[in-house]
Amino acid sequence: MKKIILLFSLSLFLSCNTSTNKEPEAKQTNNTEKQQDSVANFGIVIHGGAGTILKENMSDSLEQEYKAKLEEAIKVGHKILANGGTAIEAVQRTINIMENSPLFNAGKGAVFTNEGKNELDASIMDGQTLNAGAVSGVTTVKNPINLAWEVMGNSEHVMLSGKGAEQFAKERGLEIVDPGYFYTENRFKSLERLKAKNTKKTELDHDGKTAFVDPFIKDSKFGTVGCAALDKNGNLAAGTSTGGMTNKKWGRIGDAPIIGAGTYANNKTAAISATGWGEFFIRGVVAYDISALMEYKKMSLAQAAKEVIQKKNPELGGSGGIIAIDHQGNVSMEFNTAGMYRAKMNKNGKLEIGIYKN
Ligand code: ASP
Repeated sequence: MKKIILLFSLSLFLSCNTSTNKEPEAKQTNNTEKQQDSVANFGIVIHGGAGTILKENMSDSLEQEYKAKLEEAIKVGHKILANGGTAIEAVQRTINIMENSPLFNAGKGAVFTNEGKNELDASIMDGQTLNAGAVSGVTTVKNPINLAWEVMGNSEHVMLSGKGAEQFAKERGLEIVDPGYFYTENRFKSLERLKAKNTKKTELDHDGKTAFVDPFIKDSKFGTVGCAALDKNGNLAAGTSTGGMTNKKWGRIGDAPIIGAGTYANNKTAAISATGWGEFFIRGVVAYDISALMEYKKMSLAQAAKEVIQKKNPELGGSGGIIAIDHQGNVSMEFNTAGMYRAKMNKNGKLEIGIYKN
């Protein structure tokens, strides 16, 4: 009898033990499932500027050049994300490709100021930590988005400008170039054309509704670049880089380096990069407004982007667009201009590139 009791208690002990051993296994399966869920959501979206981009003004070969560069850029970021890299790294590296291309108004190919210089602006934001970095008015930093990243990660500040920013770039060992590096003939000709046209501006109206109307600004192709990404860990990031607007004066700074206007990212909502007539994007706090509508009004990314870009921005007198991705991987590419250079790619590698409205 004693033996039977002993055997019974032994088997009871063993079965309890096996069941406690099983518990961690069950937990592991849940974790793996969770990881697979988040893998399902990664994605990336880019823009290369919005404006009066019409099919009839574009040669087939130039259209192909734009598409090829958009594809090259987005694939760089997508690969980083597919390999488990961070959204912020994907954003930075993707923007580098466009900054190094003369096709876009960022880095090489930036537009000229009234004085015939190139003054570059950029910003980047991490949606997980809400850390951000921005630079404005730099003239010798090859890739301003890299400097924005350095400001975010290696300074106690969010925004640096002009000479100080360039000094910081040197101290951080970033690539410094002669200002002549940014010269492109096309952009210089645009400046000359604008100046020659001797624009007639209407006066600034201080009721806050009608800003001055400069037909050349309205009609210019903007060409800023931007990227928003969601990584496999569910983190969002966004970045924007630009030369600003042709013929800008007096150290003018647009929305691109302003966190909340041209760039915003928050894991709770979305990562957003804007392009367009910067003054209106600053006044409308466009990127943050989209995030706020999602956070406080519980709008979807699509609804929020539509509200801001199709309603609020044009009502104020602005024009342009945004690209964005939310924490679930939903993408928006909303614009109120004739076109916007854009591309998106999801976790399956499905690539979509667009230029014109339809
Ligand atoms: N938003 C930029 C600026 O105003 C221009 C652009 O998007 O191309 O500086």
